[in-house]
Amino acid sequence: MRAIVRAQDRRYQVVAEPRWPDGARIAVNFTADFDAMLLRRLLEEPPMQLAKGEFGGRVGVWRLLDLFDSHAMKTTLFVPGRIGELYPEAVRAWARSGHEVADHMWEHRVPADPATERAHLLRSTEALEKLSGRRPIGTRSWHSAELLGELGYLYNSHDAADHRPYFTEYHGGTRLMNLPFHYALDDAQFFSFAWLNTDNSAQRIADPDRVLELWWDTFWQQYQQGGYLNICLHPFMSGRSMRVAMLDQLITRMKELPGVWFASCEEVVRHCLSLEEER
Ligand SMILES: [Zn+2]
Repeated sequence: MRAIVRAQDRRYQVVAEPRWPDGARIAVNFTADFDAMLLRRLLEEPPMQLAKGEFGGRVGVWRLLDLFDSHAMKTTLFVPGRIGELYPEAVRAWARSGHEVADHMWEHRVPADPATERAHLLRSTEALEKLSGRRPIGTRSWHSAELLGELGYLYNSHDAADHRPYFTEYHGGTRLMNLPFHYALDDAQFFSFAWLNTDNSAQRIADPDRVLELWWDTFWQQYQQGGYLNICLHPFMSGRSMRVAMLDQLITRMKELPGVWFASCEEVVRHCLSLEEER
């Protein structure tokens, strides 16, 4: 039993003292998962829900881009390759503004068959590289670590085994960084009607002011400790105007404090890797 625990311990290496650039106290990753209608289609949701997803591609993704650019901050857009091909102008615009474009699976699922999984990841990687001009080095997915490592991926933003960034070493020697997020910092938990095919009695559409306070309190806790925060948005939910206004207030409040580093996931990962090289 102890041997197993020790083996588990070795798998996770938390970046305990990230020493963010310019003496920043906290790194904040605003991330957006550009699911549009794809996830909803996979769940075989009715046309009305698909159209809500489509709003993300037509309107929401542009509003979030304008918001982040108005604050001159860098963020990460996680894109399923297929959605990238459906909304190429949006993905190009995010890349042009200096945001990171990262993978979110070819069609928001990872096939069980390894050869098909590889074909999906390759297809998504190549589609995003073509659109953004840069080969993605990050993903938010269930892809196998070995495959990600082999295709040059440096990080996944999916697990939540710690509240700080951590490296995970997998069997076979693959090592990836993990940028954790929590459901309390995921807009879907507050703003999505019919999320994951839930029935009407399970709905919760939260008042944006309540979410603002919750997210601000979470940020404040992390800020005081010095650390890391990853906020997960979806353009089809957070791209609604009242929620964009809420995010604007949240970011404005964060910016009033000294030492807040608004970075893309890639910037955080490359910074942590550079700390290792210094040692
Ligand atoms: Zn997604």
